Amino acid sequence: MERKYEFSWDLLGDVKEGRPNLGPMVRTEIYRLMQFCFRDVLETNYGSETADKLFYESGMLAGKQFYQNAMNEAENFNDFIKSLQSILADKAIGILRLETSDFEQGKYVLSISEDLDCSGLPELDYQICVYDEGFIAGLLESFTGKKFTVKEVDCWCTGDRTCRFVAKICKE
Ligand SMILES: [Zn+2]
Repeated sequence: MERKYEFSWDLLGDVKEGRPNLGPMVRTEIYRLMQFCFRDVLETNYGSETADKLFYESGMLAGKQFYQNAMNEAENFNDFIKSLQSILADKAIGILRLETSDFEQGKYVLSISEDLDCSGLPELDYQICVYDEGFIAGLLESFTGKKFTVKEVDCWCTGDRTCRFVAKICKE
């Protein structure tokens, strides 16, 4: 397929030059406005399951691109998590914690507090951070070279005050 919209980091532009007065920040609710409108339109056009799949895949692409363009190389898993923690806090995406790690099984539990996508939302009866699931999967895959599936198990929206994600290496 001839592509019109293939992602490249350059598309994010030179914000310093482009927004000399307003600067790089935008309010969280404006970011959410775009995300929730996308979700609505995708669901209306393609159904809930496909909307979730597209969000997950977009998150995954973003995670891979973020890893390539925004992160420094890490020597080992702990360094990787540490540098991820600091950049996610620095960019006000969320406060990351690695809760448990099982290297043998390739299973990790991570939590993100004050999550950009969902903290403060009304309570719903489902976890909503599908984009984050993909984002984490993309980051983990980029660092380890292995495919991951990531599932959010607790969310602000399900009454928890943090988002908790279970990440597992895909067994071939
Ligand atoms: Zn969440």
